[in-house]
Amino acid sequence: MALSDEELDRYARHIVLPQIGGAGQLRLKAARVAVVGAGGIGAGAIPSLTGAGVGHLTIIDDDRVEISNLQRQPLYASDQVGERKVDLAARYVGKRNPHVECRTVPDRIEAENVDAILSGHDLILDGTDNFSTRLLVSDSAVKLGIPLISAAAQQFQGQVALFRGRPCYRCFVGDAFDADDCDTCAELGVLGALTGTMGNFAALLVIRAIVGLGSGDAGVLHLFNGLTLDWRKIRIAADPGCRACGSISS
Ligand SMILES: [Zn+2]
Repeated sequence: MALSDEELDRYARHIVLPQIGGAGQLRLKAARVAVVGAGGIGAGAIPSLTGAGVGHLTIIDDDRVEISNLQRQPLYASDQVGERKVDLAARYVGKRNPHVECRTVPDRIEAENVDAILSGHDLILDGTDNFSTRLLVSDSAVKLGIPLISAAAQQFQGQVALFRGRPCYRCFVGDAFDADDCDTCAELGVLGALTGTMGNFAALLVIRAIVGLGSGDAGVLHLFNGLTLDWRKIRIAADPGCRACGSISS
C-alpha cells in the first residue's frame, strides 16, 4: 500500500510531523474504526477521523435527525430533519474525503447483533447515550479483543477513556446499569459545544492509538468540567470480580 500524490498533498500537515510521517499515515489508511452512535459524540468525532484519513469507517446508528439534535450535531442541517443519520454521515464522509471507505449500519446495537457488527475492526469509538448499550459494546470489545474508546457528555461534564482489555468500562461503572437507560441527555440536558469537544477528544485518542502514540493512554479516564474548565485524569482500577474482563490478566 502506498499514498498517491493527491494523498501526500492532502495529509501533508500530518506527514511532516515526525511522530506520524508517511508510516503513520499508512497506518491510518489501513485502520478499521467502528463509530457506535452518530449523535453528539459521533458527530464530533467523525469529521476528525474523516479528515485524518482513517481508511475504513463503520457508522452504526438507527436514529433519524430531530430538530433538537441540531443544537449539537454539526453533521446535520435543518432541512434534513427526518433523514437517517447514518446516510447523512456517510454522505459527509464521502464528500470530505473520498479515500475513506464508509459502511453504515442503520440498526440498534443489541445483545444479538453486537459481536457481528463490531468484529473485524481495529478500534471501536462508542458515543452512545445510555449505559445498557455502552456495556453491551464494552463487553463485546473485551470479548473480541478490540480496544474501545468510550466517550460521553452530560450537562457540563464530559468523559473519555481508552480501554484495552483490563480494566474495562464495566470495571468503571459496575453492573447496575445493564437494563437501565437512565440519565440520558434528553432528561438532563447537555451543553452543545461540550459534545463536540469530547467527540473530537475521542477522535484524538483514536488517532493516537492507530499511529502508536497512545501506549500509556489505556485505563485512564479524562474528565472535563465545562463550568470550571478543569481537565482531570483518573486511573481506573480493575474490578477483581468484573464479569467481562475478570479472567484477563492485567
Ligand atoms: Zn472489567
